[in-house]
Amino acid sequence: STASRNVLRIGLIPADGIGREVIPAARQAIEALGSAIPKTEFLDLDAGFEYFQKHGKALPEATLQKLKEECDCAMFGSVSSPSTKVAGYSSPIVALRKAMNLYANIRPVVSTSTKPEVDLVVVRENTECLYVKQETLEKTADGKQVAKATRVITEHASKKIAQMAFKIAEARPRKHLTIIHKSNVLSITDGLFRESVREVAKDWPGVTVAEQLVDSAVYKLFREPGVFDVMVAPNLYGDILSDAAAALVGSLGVVPSINAGDHFVIGEPVHGSAPDIAGQNKANPIASIRSAAMMLRHLGYDDAALRIEKAVDTVLVEGRLVTPDLGGKATTQQVTDAVLKLI
Ligand code: ATP
Ligand code: MG
Repeated sequence: STASRNVLRIGLIPADGIGREVIPAARQAIEALGSAIPKTEFLDLDAGFEYFQKHGKALPEATLQKLKEECDCAMFGSVSSPSTKVAGYSSPIVALRKAMNLYANIRPVVSTSTKPEVDLVVVRENTECLYVKQETLEKTADGKQVAKATRVITEHASKKIAQMAFKIAEARPRKHLTIIHKSNVLSITDGLFRESVREVAKDWPGVTVAEQLVDSAVYKLFREPGVFDVMVAPNLYGDILSDAAAALVGSLGVVPSINAGDHFVIGEPVHGSAPDIAGQNKANPIASIRSAAMMLRHLGYDDAALRIEKAVDTVLVEGRLVTPDLGGKATTQQVTDAVLKLI
């Protein structure tokens, strides 16, 4: 543990594409904190699609072992996801979430310098739903293909994510939670999710609870994003909702997340590997830097997190040094340097 060593050990897994450009930015932001956090040590760890292409494994055993035995937390960049199945490959971040039991994916979406005003957090269940990846391909008697996928929703995981969501809601000024589901159609799976969250709600009388069907939640998100504070959702809906919410605040390049469990946390920008801009020093480092701040807050270093977040907000509000996704001309390193100076 951190306390016993007085050293914070942070695993760095840049993985693919712009992950290699934005993870160094997060590292520099953490280093700029100086004595605001314990002495830090960084461990460079391998994973990703490119690593798989060279070595036949997307998540090497050594990476998992070092995370478990030597690290207090980690930062993950992004992985390229081939859109058709590649034999033997499966996403290392999905595997990591499972292996480290990081059951919550927490994605705050905030409009710092853009309209409409958005200030919400998507709390996404991170281990089950359709992402258990139990898919089969069968053939009917007349030779037509039938693809099937199993969706798993458990009371246990739904209650765990609900606890996390209520804890986050209670710490926010509005203390409001919206349960996202589709139990009018999927009454058993989404019904269990909804009931489980409702059950946990009894322990959190200070938080108001609403619910919304996922389709109308997306509609509402675009018409009146201000109605949402914390949204709790099963894995697939949460994934889609948080990308949609990211569109409201200008760019995927500013939206951070953490993957959190009871014993470990991994910061991860919401965006993918962005092959269209990789290697050009154009990637927005802010999602990654904000993810580092979230990771530190999760570990209890609130002041350090706030220092990073204030620096980022100032750079965004000034708007002079921003990357092309936000309409600017600055490079990844120029934006990073502007943030570092303010930290
Ligand atoms: P992947 O399969 O890895 O998800 P993708 O093609 O879906 O790749 P994303 O990374 O999800 O790419 O990005 C979607 C779009 O948003 C791309 O046009 C990309 O350039 C842009 N984008 C994503 N992240 C950033 C960033 N940090 N800075 C600038 N633009 C970004
Ligand atoms: Mg993508």
